[in-house]
Amino acid sequence: MPHKITVIPGDGTGPELTEATIRVLEATGVAFDWEYVEAGIDAIEKFGSVLPDAVLDSVRTNKVAIKGPITTPRGGGFRSVNVALRKLLDLYACLRPAKYYPGVRSRYQDVDLVIVRENHEDLYAGLEFEKGDPAIARVSELTEAAGMGRLREDSGLSLKTISVFGSRRIVKFAFEYARQYKRKKVTAVAKDNIMKYTDGLFFAVAREVAESFPDIQYEERLVDNMTMQLVQKPELYDVLVLPNLYGDILSDLCAGLVGGLGVAPGANLGDEIALFEPVHGSAPKYTGQNKVNPMAMMFSGMMMLRHIGEAAAGDRLESAIAAVIAEGKSVTYDMKPTPDDPTAVGTSQVADAVIEKLRRD
Ligand code: NAD
Repeated sequence: MPHKITVIPGDGTGPELTEATIRVLEATGVAFDWEYVEAGIDAIEKFGSVLPDAVLDSVRTNKVAIKGPITTPRGGGFRSVNVALRKLLDLYACLRPAKYYPGVRSRYQDVDLVIVRENHEDLYAGLEFEKGDPAIARVSELTEAAGMGRLREDSGLSLKTISVFGSRRIVKFAFEYARQYKRKKVTAVAKDNIMKYTDGLFFAVAREVAESFPDIQYEERLVDNMTMQLVQKPELYDVLVLPNLYGDILSDLCAGLVGGLGVAPGANLGDEIALFEPVHGSAPKYTGQNKVNPMAMMFSGMMMLRHIGEAAAGDRLESAIAAVIAEGKSVTYDMKPTPDDPTAVGTSQVADAVIEKLRRD
């Protein structure tokens, strides 16, 4: 039986990256039945919505999706389709591996980390009041009554909430991931010395969950210290589990440790549904130029193969991409010593090179 998978090509450079990725996934020999659906700017003209119901229906039915990036216009326009997908499908875990491959231009050689970021809560949830909103005066009364003083009248307000429910399921997810992928240690990251009732709660729940996984080491780090540790000795860390905002920031830091956005894959997962996508955005200025690096999306495809039980094919795809990186010939501009290197190849040529390696395998 072929694996039925939803494909959301996205917009900007998304469709080119998706095409390259689908070609290498097919070259692994695994049988797929792709279901293409459209979301993003181009979907507005055809379907009157950036996120047509058909997209959600398809992902809910197939349970697995691979997605190219989708543009979120700054300022007005529509809210992020990417955030909407995560919310509507309850994809509460964001998984971002950061692994060094020989040949990548990086200051570090010995990095193999996985970031597990909570996707729905925390300051990132967008619970906000604009300066001047009467709600802020009401909150000010509450802080004053609690002996914390009044808020300045010209303040904006963003609310940070972290729940036992949200913390428990993300930490459990991190431990289960560690167990499944034979990782040794989970490090919870927050700042409970300052945010006792949110980050403190996160750590307390993490400790409790850790007790059910005695085979996996557990430790805690304050987020500020963690950023320094990651720069000084990233090899000491394995799986990191974090609330939303710290997870957002540290996953970019970790992508930077291993060669940047061009090679940073990701997945958003819930209890039943998994959506695989690169960390980077739609890089709209390069649309249609066959220029950007498809490896981040290809590595996301590798994660998808493992998720659907095709681990051997995932391993072969990883080795093929790693071989292309190590050779350094058929790589895009971002992986060359300078961005204007004339020997850089295009998106589809990277796919050709990976497919050639897979065939030789
Ligand atoms: P971006 O990641 O699209 O691009 C930033 C820069 O990084 C690019 O100009 C390019 O120089 C480089 N880059 C990105 N991807 C690359 C690749 N595959 N190969 C080589 N170089 C690459 O970030 P941005 O410019 O901030 O965002 C553009 C749009 O994408 C925005 O609308 C943003 O909201 C959206 N976005 C979408 C997602 C998603 O779909 N999950 C994620 C992030 C941003």
